[in-house]
Amino acid sequence: MALRRFKADLHVHTCLSPCSCLDMSPREVVSAALQNGMDLIGVCDHNSAENVLAVKKAGSRNGLIVLGGMEVTSSEEAHLLVFFDDDDDLLEFQKFIYQHLAGKNDGHSFGLQVIADDEDGVSGFCDRLLIGATSLPAEAIVAQARAAKGASLVVAAHVDREAFSIIGQLGFIPESLVLDALEISANTDVADAKKRFPDCANYPVLTGSDAHTPGDIGRRYTCFTLEDGTVAEIKKALTGRDGRKAEC
Ligand SMILES: [Zn+2]
Ligand SMILES: [Zn+2]
Repeated sequence: MALRRFKADLHVHTCLSPCSCLDMSPREVVSAALQNGMDLIGVCDHNSAENVLAVKKAGSRNGLIVLGGMEVTSSEEAHLLVFFDDDDDLLEFQKFIYQHLAGKNDGHSFGLQVIADDEDGVSGFCDRLLIGATSLPAEAIVAQARAAKGASLVVAAHVDREAFSIIGQLGFIPESLVLDALEISANTDVADAKKRFPDCANYPVLTGSDAHTPGDIGRRYTCFTLEDGTVAEIKKALTGRDGRKAEC
């Protein structure tokens, strides 16, 4: 198979995230991503993957590649984006995260957490406190992701932000934390971030939108050169293996 370029926004929320706009239904996410020129998106709601399969289904009907993931909040209150190629790996991972996430959501205070099907029907509401932090240190989250049968990708989210980033919370990235990449948010120019955060020199870097509304999907993206839109291929691109590339 030949290599080709994929415009990818790996950081997209859906209406399952309490802080997200309710318009972020599976069909709307897919249609906004395509409208904004994306070939591939990563779905990563806070501490849950309950809308991933619906977005994947809606994506496959319309020619958009969707990677399944989650934005996990560690006990240090750092956000990590975790993706899997295999849906069973993702569902196993979700089970593990749920075991370490306490509390019930209050929809009035934090927002509704809508579970939708691929036709935008409401199939239920998640009542877990998705906006909360898990009791898991970042290292335990990474270890669990690495224990999956298939490929997994772990990215430290928005490292240029003070709130909820590993650098913001700890001031540095522990050497023992085996990350595949660091994400620079849409608020900071990639070149500026590299100057401001010396850790960016030690890891591959990517960018994503952290979209909570349809219009924001693809406002920041990474261009990958890949054979296919998979986690395994993106991992190759981040380390520049076999002609694969990641540019942002
Ligand atoms: Zn975040
Ligand atoms: Zn996010």
